[in-house]
Amino acid sequence: MARVFVITGPSGVGKGTLIRGLMERLPQLELSVSATTRGPRPGEADGVDYHFLTREQFDRKVAEGDFVEHADYAGRSYGTLRSELEQRVHAGVPVVLEIEVQGARQVRAAMPEAVQVFIAPPSLPALRTRLVGRGTDDPAEVERRLRVAEEELQAQPEFAHVVVNDRLDEALERLVEIVDANLD
Ligand code: ADP
Ligand code: 5GP
Repeated sequence: MARVFVITGPSGVGKGTLIRGLMERLPQLELSVSATTRGPRPGEADGVDYHFLTREQFDRKVAEGDFVEHADYAGRSYGTLRSELEQRVHAGVPVVLEIEVQGARQVRAAMPEAVQVFIAPPSLPALRTRLVGRGTDDPAEVERRLRVAEEELQAQPEFAHVVVNDRLDEALERLVEIVDANLD
């Protein structure tokens, strides 16, 4: 069975940036495309960045047991579809999940063999600077995400691997090391 790698941590910490670098360094990895009820940001494409679903579509998939995990985050729902994982795992393809902390806990319960990495910011002010600098969320959304982040940071001790994303190149090196060491 191929490995499942869960990359979690607060919004704006650099998960997406680090995962892009990770996948360039280890091209055998494939990224699970999540489902969400939030709308696409400019430049995001359906089926590539997310499967963008209506509330009704999302809830139907929950009822039909189509999710490995799902969670509410800042007023929206997000989830990992079984269909994104099962074929790859059976075909021996290592899969990366980029998900928030409640989802990571559900994956830990369902698949304790998954390798979980928590990405931490150097500080809360640095996290705010990154969320604002990314320019994708209005000020109210930034504040919602920072409130969630304070809770998420308390979950850090639950994770076997913690990478502080201070200098991007150093954090990427550390993440590559962790994933590479756990590839079959
Ligand atoms: P996430 O996927 O965790 O929400 P992103 O990858 O979108 O976070 O990163 C949020 C913002 O922070 C982006 O603008 C990104 O360029 C920037 N960023 C990522 N890593 C660093 C870093 N180590 N130092 C400074 N800025 C960073
Ligand atoms: P964003 O709206 O910034 O794309 O994502 C918001 C949060 O939802 C991020 O912390 C992201 O990691 C998380 N997320 C994305 N996809 C999933 C998923 O499939 N499941 C869960 N639980 N969280 C997800």
